[in-house]
Amino acid sequence: MGGEARRPRRAVRAAGAEFDLVRSLARATRVARSDVRMGIGDDAALVRVPPRSELVLAVDTLVAGVHFPRSAAAFDIGWKALAVNLSDLAAMGARPAWATLALTLPRADGTWVAAFARGFARLARQHGVSLVGGDTTRGPLTVTVQAHGFLPRDGGLLRSGARVGDVILISGCLGDAAAGLRLAMQGPKSPAAAGRMPAAQRTLLQRLNRPQPRVALGLALRPLAHAAIDVSDGLAQDLTHVLRASGVGAVLQADQLPASGALRRYRPLPQQRWPLQLAGGDDYELCFTLPPQRLRRALQAARRIGVALTPIGRVVAGRGLQVHDPAGKAVVVSRPGFTHFA
Ligand code: ADP
Ligand code: MG
Repeated sequence: MGGEARRPRRAVRAAGAEFDLVRSLARATRVARSDVRMGIGDDAALVRVPPRSELVLAVDTLVAGVHFPRSAAAFDIGWKALAVNLSDLAAMGARPAWATLALTLPRADGTWVAAFARGFARLARQHGVSLVGGDTTRGPLTVTVQAHGFLPRDGGLLRSGARVGDVILISGCLGDAAAGLRLAMQGPKSPAAAGRMPAAQRTLLQRLNRPQPRVALGLALRPLAHAAIDVSDGLAQDLTHVLRASGVGAVLQADQLPASGALRRYRPLPQQRWPLQLAGGDDYELCFTLPPQRLRRALQAARRIGVALTPIGRVVAGRGLQVHDPAGKAVVVSRPGFTHFA
């Protein structure tokens, strides 16, 4: 950017501190990949895209106090910043490869960065993702990760592919993260105090803080599914994006929404769970639509991977999302999901 009012690009005060932070990040997150010609350490990264592939890009920002509680552990923030991006790649059916990281920190806190890097690296290693570059600045705690992956040419799972008659499926279970957020807001402010919570509550918090991106499932269902989306802002809202993009409607059965044991303990009555499951964000499960004749193969693939996959409804002609209770009565979703500027 040009202009006279140009300010120094680096906001972290001591250049030495900035370089130390970047060095420690680079060391902690190292994942060797033969397709990285130049990772951290030059003006830009150089990477090789396999032939006959498309590059898939996703970027997501986490802001302290908005996307994670200010009390969140640095490890969890590092994990989640990568997880939400890998979840976006998974929802396209893509294979992740690299990531870049723009980190804005209130101060050059080496201990915090080391724990952050461990969380980021733990998940990065699980998926063979190499951190190839980034930027480090001073300001209110904000973490932006861009993840890069591959798809065979013209092979991505789009939101626009759902067709009338498709079965709607969801991975894992829904509502845990929303319950975890409630616990985080009322609950213990220190990780030590969280350690003394009942096991079921710890599970819910863990699901909020360390979402597991469903990368293998996205890859396995790519050839079978018509459409997919990851549930970041609430199922009702995210599924509605698919319906709009595809020009169709859907009917969900509320009693089929998969609930974990921990959520059942937290909210014993199904009707208490539905709002969390339909409108709660942060689960990072994948929602697919696919034709009924491929259902069996999809369920087999999920079983092989070891991830639950549950049919929860049908794509129908028309517009909009309806949710039915077991008696066939409409379940009203008062607040369908999270938006930033509501
Ligand atoms: P420049 O001023 O040319 O942007 P930087 O000092 O910002 O250079 O970055 C130097 C190297 O360190 C680059 O390779 C950059 O990608 C990497 N880098 C800086 N910050 C981060 C970060 N937070 N995470 C990963 N790599 C980083
Ligand atoms: Mg820079």
